[in-house]
Amino acid sequence: MVQLLEGAPVAKRIRDEARAGAAALSPPPTLVVLLLGNDPASETYVASKTRAALEAGVRAETVRLPSGSPPEALLDAVAAANRDPSVDGVLVQMPLEPGHDPSRVIDALDPGKDVDGLHPENVGLLHQGRPRFVPCTPAGILALLDHYGVPLSGRRAVIVGRSALVGRPLAALLTARDATVTLCHSRTRDLPAVCREAEVLVAAIGRPGFVTAHFVQPGATVVDVGINRLGSIDDAPENLRRSGRIADAISAKGSAIVGDVDFDDVSRVAARVTPVPGGVGPLTVAMLIHNTVLAAQMRRAGGVDGTS
Ligand code: NDP
Repeated sequence: MVQLLEGAPVAKRIRDEARAGAAALSPPPTLVVLLLGNDPASETYVASKTRAALEAGVRAETVRLPSGSPPEALLDAVAAANRDPSVDGVLVQMPLEPGHDPSRVIDALDPGKDVDGLHPENVGLLHQGRPRFVPCTPAGILALLDHYGVPLSGRRAVIVGRSALVGRPLAALLTARDATVTLCHSRTRDLPAVCREAEVLVAAIGRPGFVTAHFVQPGATVVDVGINRLGSIDDAPENLRRSGRIADAISAKGSAIVGDVDFDDVSRVAARVTPVPGGVGPLTVAMLIHNTVLAAQMRRAGGVDGTS
């Protein structure tokens, strides 16, 4: 029987710890979220981040820029949040609209307020094995694996997806925990065979139901990072169309959220698997709150390098 690795209990512990950390600070930690345009998915993510912040006693302000704002307007908003001494954490909700260069925006963030951990300084520190702000989703995955006692040292870990947000930082984190890590992507040859070597397999691809039992070594731990919205059963790949659960969700709610893993199929062979929704998702938000409190603690203690 497969063990479900649910995110809720782990996310609750992280949020409780963040709330205690925030309560010890006066004034409370403050997070600024910069939101460009009105993409519905981004609106939903920003709403859940600000709600979680408020629940943890963290002040959260959303700075909205109208759709079509020029790159300079977004860079000015970043600079203003950087300069504001009452702001501890700044994040720019991605993806940006066409015409904006995400690297330019990330480079413009004050690395001491970069609670998403995407600024080159924070990325560099992570890869040197001395992390400051760790990107929220990979940090959450590590907390999830630790909570459920999944051994990492000396184990084979395979990550599918090499994004700056998930795959690459997770590879650094798992390497630092003495796992032997393989990072796969769209050019990887014979991906199922590489994945079958994994004792811990992480799917961060953005393709519904892509990872089937054929990719999974019996007894492996499978982490599904994917968040894919299906508006119709016709949008689902063949293997997912067989699942009555997905068809039922679509007819009841008009859409279904599915991961990159074919949950029913993989559950036949894996020892542990994360559900979607309810696995990694809640941890991403919890880690954002954790990072914001950490940013506030560091700034109040005299700056990220202890000198400013
Ligand atoms: P990206 O689109 O940035 O990266 C996707 C990665 O998957 C790329 O490295 C790409 O390879 C690889 N890939 C695509 N197709 C294949 C394939 N056929 N075979 C092997 N590799 C492939 O996505 P993100 O990392 O931002 O997100 C991945 C998923 O995780 C999405 O569903 C996203 O919604 C979800 N997500 C969930 C979060 C959560 O809180 N649970 C947070 C962040 C993301 P290549 O580099 O060669 O193009």
